[in-house]
Amino acid sequence: MRILVVEDEPKVASFIKRGLEQAQNVVDVATTAAEADYLVSIQEYDLVVLDCMLPDEDGRKLCRRLRLRGVDVPVLILTAKDSTADKVLGLDSGADDYLTKPFAFTELLARVRALGRRRGRPLLQPLAVADLCIDPVRRRVMRGGRNIALTPKEYALLELLVRHAGQVVTRAEIIEQVWDMHFDPTSNIVDVMIKMLRDKIDRNFELKLIRTVRGAGYMIEDQS
Ligand code: CA
Repeated sequence: MRILVVEDEPKVASFIKRGLEQAQNVVDVATTAAEADYLVSIQEYDLVVLDCMLPDEDGRKLCRRLRLRGVDVPVLILTAKDSTADKVLGLDSGADDYLTKPFAFTELLARVRALGRRRGRPLLQPLAVADLCIDPVRRRVMRGGRNIALTPKEYALLELLVRHAGQVVTRAEIIEQVWDMHFDPTSNIVDVMIKMLRDKIDRNFELKLIRTVRGAGYMIEDQS
C-alpha cells in the first residue's frame, strides 16, 4: 500500500516509516498538516496515519477538512490523546480507526492491513502470471511453488508489473508508483532494480517473465 504518515516528531516518524516499509508499503512522511493536505491532493494514498498534535493544526481538523472535500482515503489516527472524549472526537472527525501511543507495532500493522481490506478494492486478490503467484495480503511471492524473498521495493515493482501484465509500464510510472515522490528520473535506479528482480524471479527459470521494451519501459507478458 502507499501510506502517508503525518507526524512532526522526527524519531517517531522515521520509526513508523521504517516499520511500514519493512511490511512492503511505500511510505511518505509529512511533518505538518499543511504538507499532508498538499500531498493528499496530488497523490493517491491507500491510507493516512495521522498524528493529532501537529505544529500548525490539530490532525482531526485536517481529517474533517479532507472529508468535507470528499477525500475518502482511510485515516488511522495515531496519538497520545487517549481519553474516551478524544477518541470520540477523532472518529467523529471522519477517521476510520484510532490507536493510542505508546503502541505495539504489530497492532499498528494489523490495523493497517484491516483498513486495507475494508477498502474493499479488488487489490487484495491473489495474482498469477504463468507459474508466478503473488499474495498481496501477505506480500508473498512464489514461483514454481517456491517462496521468493523480495525487498519492499522489489515487491512493489513486481506487483506493479503483474497488475499491468500485457502492458508496457514506463520508467516514469515505475518511479511514481514504487519510489517516494522526490526522485531523480535521470537516475538508473529502475534499471538496477529490474536487474535485481530478474535475478530472483527469472534467472533460475526457463520462461523469462520480465521483458524490456526498448525506449519505453518494462512489461510482463500476459500468459493467460
Ligand atoms: Ca505530534
